[in-house]
Amino acid sequence: MPELFIGGTWVTAADGRTREIRCPADGTLVATVDEAGPQDAAAAVAAAREAFDDGPWPATPVAERGRLLVRVADLLERDKAAFARAESLDTGKRLVESEYDMDDIAACFRYFGNLTASGGTDRIIATGNPEADSRVVHEPVGVCALITPWNYPLLQTAWKVAPALGAGNTFVLKPSELTPHTAILLMRLLTEAGLPSGAANLILGTGAEAGAPLTEDPRVDLVSFTGGLATGRRIMAAAAPTVKKVALELGGKNPNIVFADADFEAAVDHALMAVFLHSGQVCSAGARLLVEDSLHDAFVDEIVTRARAIPMGGPFDESARTGPLISAAHRDKVEAYVAAGLAEGAVLRCGGARPKDPELAHGYYYPPTVLDDCTPGMSVVRDESFGPVLTVERFRGEAEAVALANDTEYGLAGAVWSQDTGRAHRVASRLRAGTVWINDFHPYVPQAEWGGMKQSGFGRELGPAGLAEYQETKHIWRNLAPKAQRWFE
Ligand code: NDP
Repeated sequence: MPELFIGGTWVTAADGRTREIRCPADGTLVATVDEAGPQDAAAAVAAAREAFDDGPWPATPVAERGRLLVRVADLLERDKAAFARAESLDTGKRLVESEYDMDDIAACFRYFGNLTASGGTDRIIATGNPEADSRVVHEPVGVCALITPWNYPLLQTAWKVAPALGAGNTFVLKPSELTPHTAILLMRLLTEAGLPSGAANLILGTGAEAGAPLTEDPRVDLVSFTGGLATGRRIMAAAAPTVKKVALELGGKNPNIVFADADFEAAVDHALMAVFLHSGQVCSAGARLLVEDSLHDAFVDEIVTRARAIPMGGPFDESARTGPLISAAHRDKVEAYVAAGLAEGAVLRCGGARPKDPELAHGYYYPPTVLDDCTPGMSVVRDESFGPVLTVERFRGEAEAVALANDTEYGLAGAVWSQDTGRAHRVASRLRAGTVWINDFHPYVPQAEWGGMKQSGFGRELGPAGLAEYQETKHIWRNLAPKAQRWFE
């Protein structure tokens, strides 16, 4: 069966190209899928445009749009096992983690379904003029290009697709070329749930050949992108000539600040989870550990002891607690950051070399790695390595902790650990990041907005602002007793 979904029909690529998808855990062939190029991108945009301009979806009552999203949530729960397996084969992540993701994805569709159905935020303005009324209404933006990465393929997709549809838009989705399968499954569910033809379109292919044409096409009204900073800058530039709305989620280099009075056991446990979850391939990973000088030795010793003991393995290995990186090229990049850190004076405390276990030889494994004695200027501290690499810096006192934490071009997330509530809140309020955790790391809820400050991007996903991202605001003024004004007489 072909894998591109354009105008309600499954089609092959116009030029017949395909791509092999291989599991990063062992290199086995998952499937061969169609690979779109510019011609397919143009066809998908045309279909989405037609569905927006002439199709029923934008004018479908909000209650019905909301009901459809809730139906999608139900179908995702029904098909959870198949979705989780497909996600794990594409990404190499542990099956149990994919299963958690599927629960979050269903919750996202349910949240936006209910929010959509609840009727929105249109309002009547009291003008004080009995001969006029004035309304502010919210309408869909139009055709949306949704471009998503490989680390949380369907989760990042859901954060865009659910509000885009809830607001009445049509879209073209371009997932990472490495992880297409759950996007294909989602298109089938949207169809089963009753979404009209052309409202959802899917093209698979590279950023250069399938993604870039979407960002330049004048028929596209909005681009929502999650991925790397360099790509985000390119997309913003590509969208500028046609002044598209743009939302960017570009990752982070997130500080995890641990004061000496933190709950030791909880802080160690969460610091490991913060950075090594999904082998560090998480935009909000706590990759920079900032630890108070007096606590440093005991804390880092414990982190290192536990990091060394984290078992690696494939998605279906129940004894594994972390998996492979997404690709050989990505592992090369992570290794290069570690090498650069060591050359700049960091001290390797654990990890730092590919595993020798022959069981792991065909996957892109890299062990949990801790680099101590790091300083703010090091590239491994400044850049997003997006791997299982924890850098450790010391601080003395609140002011230095805040200064180090904010010394980054990113601003996605951060955490502060302290049993002094006043201090925890003082520090949280001074962190320049879109999400701050106190005595925790990573939790989020679909009701709360997610997004970055500084070069982590702009725009928000989730929460009411996540729906508003996909809406235009329009003021409609009605004169109830029109008469000539004779202004020029
Ligand atoms: P990219 O930013 O390159 O890719 C993200 C998505 O954008 C993919 O679908 C990609 O296509 C597409 N894309 C690439 N170039 C263009 C373009 N010119 N126009 C339109 N779409 C484009 O991320 P990578 O996957 O290469 O990862 C690179 C780095 O990005 C990571 O190491 C990490 O630092 C960061 N990253 C951040 C994420 C986050 O959640 N914020 C998620 C993933 C990565 P394709 O890859 O299929 O060619």
